[in-house]
Amino acid sequence: MAAARKPRYVDVTNPSLSVDCPRCGLRTARFVDHCRNCGYKLWPSSVVASAAFKAWRDADPSRARASRYDLELPAEPVDLTIDYAARAHELGIHLFPNSNYPFIICAGALFLGLAAIPFPSGTARIVLAVIGGLIFLFGVVGWVLVEDVRMYPSDSPEPHGEVHH
Ligand SMILES: [Zn+2]
Repeated sequence: MAAARKPRYVDVTNPSLSVDCPRCGLRTARFVDHCRNCGYKLWPSSVVASAAFKAWRDADPSRARASRYDLELPAEPVDLTIDYAARAHELGIHLFPNSNYPFIICAGALFLGLAAIPFPSGTARIVLAVIGGLIFLFGVVGWVLVEDVRMYPSDSPEPHGEVHH
């Protein structure tokens, strides 16, 4: 069916994806062969309707994302990306920075937990406690004192800077 691939009667200048059905008057998809409401045959066949849709779609690059089952063109995609860090900063909410230090803190807690096991030799427990404590402190200092301060340099005035009466 060569004729089906070349629809002669599609008005590609009409940007509408929908049409008022000639029989029931309700709005229906323009490039589906039957009216969605009353079943009136808008196109000779589904193949012709599809070919007409493709001709209409290819006539304008802005129609590339259209579906022939829709009544209107899809809305432009909206960029909903939100910078939550900036938003929190604006609202004065303190966010902890994205950090790997919590993993280090957990590793330190593991050794501290091992140190709590009542091994017969006390030195093993002391060694484990020292190792765990150092790792734990390293993690806490790195997270709270280094990264957090870097993220919020000096925007929050120290509370003890206020004048008290
Ligand atoms: Zn109809």
